[in-house]
Amino acid sequence: MTTFYPYLDLKLKYLDLQVEIDAAIQRTLSSGWYLLGKEVAQFEKAYADYIGVKYCVGVANGLDAIKLALLAIGIEPGDEVIIPANTYIATAIAVSSVGGVPILVEPKPGTYNIDPERIEEQITSKTKAILVVHLYGQPAHMKPILKLAKKYHLKVVEDNAQAHGARVDGRVTGGIGDIAANSFYPGKNLGAFGDAGAVTTNSKELADKVRQLANYGQQKKYIFRYKGMNSRLDEIHAAVLSAKLPHLNQWNTERRRLANMYLTELANLDGLQLPQIEEETEHVWHIFPILVENRDELQKSLAEQGIETMIHYPVPMHFQEAYSEWAHLQGKLPITEKIHRQELSLPLYAGMSEAHQAKVIQILKTLFPHI
Ligand SMILES: *Cc1c(COP(=O)(O)O)cnc(C)c1O
Repeated sequence: MTTFYPYLDLKLKYLDLQVEIDAAIQRTLSSGWYLLGKEVAQFEKAYADYIGVKYCVGVANGLDAIKLALLAIGIEPGDEVIIPANTYIATAIAVSSVGGVPILVEPKPGTYNIDPERIEEQITSKTKAILVVHLYGQPAHMKPILKLAKKYHLKVVEDNAQAHGARVDGRVTGGIGDIAANSFYPGKNLGAFGDAGAVTTNSKELADKVRQLANYGQQKKYIFRYKGMNSRLDEIHAAVLSAKLPHLNQWNTERRRLANMYLTELANLDGLQLPQIEEETEHVWHIFPILVENRDELQKSLAEQGIETMIHYPVPMHFQEAYSEWAHLQGKLPITEKIHRQELSLPLYAGMSEAHQAKVIQILKTLFPHI
């Protein structure tokens, strides 16, 4: 019988920390206080310190974190927000759901992150912000993006859902632009046991606005400044995240070690394209993406040998029914379309065994000839 090797196993790191995590949950349950309390305040402080920003506001999930960040910087109906064409759809939905118009920009081949050289041509009098995504755990090309934002007086919002702890030019992602959105969806590098998210920023004004908007727009008890929403981080999730956060760097180191092993062992295989890392960036490898021509076939043959893989993402946003207004872009974003056709994510997670990775490498080496 073939052994089954999963793409991801979230249970392993829970079992490693079971004592701390169970104690955190028990402490919260026994406290009798379940929302907007000490646990959230403590996690917010710890995460702000981790990112190196002054403020962190816990919210319900990553999508809300992006929406709240956009509302805080003042995005209004009709405002244009530049986003990468190659991202998870949450990035676009956040813009649309606050009434903004997402403008798609192609990525740089290799790094898969928004190409700064293609941003300027999309800037109009309606552009208000650039929403960058640190995709797959690799920081976006921030230096030229910050320069452009300055030149055109645009805000920079970071979608830091996939890159907790990544660095570029010595700065931690989530603390580089004006404001950033973080997701703690269970499978993210730092994940809760359910939905959770946070907004990070150095601006007191923006942090205050996010905090109010996320709690019905309440400024003081029963005094409402905005027509806000309910997007609060639960105490129980905050307690779990506080127990896990001290281990995040170690987990990211493990991810980096696994990624380096793939990069070394799979180098020079004909027909298999490895991700490209920019020199000044410290990647946290949320995902290890390769590109191959017969992606679906490869996924199938790996599955037959017990290796589960994923695709991030199989259908580009401008091919989705939800964004039928972008149908005219089909065929016009060739880099994004090629990534979606050819991308395959190899298993990579904190706690992944050497035997598991050795098996993946061995199969790929038999399938792709060495150059
Ligand atoms: C996961 C993710 C989100 C959304 O986070 P949720 O917590 O699932 O709402 C947003 N953007 C990107 C790039 C993501 O990977």
